[in-house]
Amino acid sequence: LRAKESNRPYHFYDPSLNAQVARSLELQSALRRATDCQEFELHYQPKVDTRTRALVGLEALIRWTDPQRGIVPPGVFVPVLEEIGLIGQVGEWVVRRALAQQREWLRMGLVPPRIAVNVSVRQLQSPEFAAEIGRVLQDFPDIHGASPGGLDIEVTESVAMDDPAACARRLADLRRLAIGIAIDDFGTGHSSLAYLTTLPAQALKIDRSFIAGLLVTSEARTIVQTIISLAHALRMQVIAEGVESEDQAAMLAEMGCDQMQGYLCGRPQPATAIEALLRRTERP
Ligand code: C2E
Ligand code: MG
Ligand code: MG
Ligand code: MG
Repeated sequence: LRAKESNRPYHFYDPSLNAQVARSLELQSALRRATDCQEFELHYQPKVDTRTRALVGLEALIRWTDPQRGIVPPGVFVPVLEEIGLIGQVGEWVVRRALAQQREWLRMGLVPPRIAVNVSVRQLQSPEFAAEIGRVLQDFPDIHGASPGGLDIEVTESVAMDDPAACARRLADLRRLAIGIAIDDFGTGHSSLAYLTTLPAQALKIDRSFIAGLLVTSEARTIVQTIISLAHALRMQVIAEGVESEDQAAMLAEMGCDQMQGYLCGRPQPATAIEALLRRTERP
């Protein structure tokens, strides 16, 4: 075998490598079980109007508590779900859960806000994606396409968009289903501005790394202002991610940023906590 013949250093035996492989195989099988037994949960983070602070929507964020590992962040397990080919199945569950949650709120007499779910580029690569989502939406005619409530998606611009034209076509399919589209983590990916104009998106989310720098460097301030101007020139809404302080919020309001999200206005929280928030905001 080639590895045996070669003397290059990375072929030397490394005992920690075996342990790493074993750990990652264990994680994969735990995620297979989690998918079968529906061990996932959704938390919801408010999106608010920058000036009025009114609730304008929610973002669904997947949560997983593994019996052995405890809470595992989505940044760790979502890439593994993609690797082992389960992201489609879990992604469909996320959509179903978000719509079912809105229906529950509606039945409680509450006004459910629209919910945005995160979609990975891997999911968009499937030609069946829009049709699958379309089938789920058919089970929720009282939610999606009716007012209030409905489904939006957030997709991260990334180098993984190896076929940008196909991605844009798939997003256009979702658009025809009346799904709103936001480009997530904007400014961190590698897509060109020309490409951006071909995407049928209605919103840009400014990555929280720029918001963190807002009061620190003039460069971050320039980037944020530029993204806001760009979005508005393209008739898109702008949402700032990771807003943690009143000073940041004040600067974003001054810059004309439409919406914001972050620990300042609400952490991602379970449905019951959002329910309490909806009851409070409905009181006249
Ligand atoms: P994202 O979509 O950009 O979500 C925002 C992340 O920032 C969330 O992390 C959220 O908890 C965190 N965050 C929100 N406000 C603040 C803040 O003020 N300060 C700081 N430091 N962080 C804040 P989370 O929940 O760990 O999710 C990480 C990423 O995992 C998400 O980034 C998204 O790309 C992905 N993800 C989450 N749920 C799903 C899902 O259902 N499907 C897919 N495919 N990806 C998901
Ligand atoms: Mg997101
Ligand atoms: Mg993201
Ligand atoms: Mg983001």
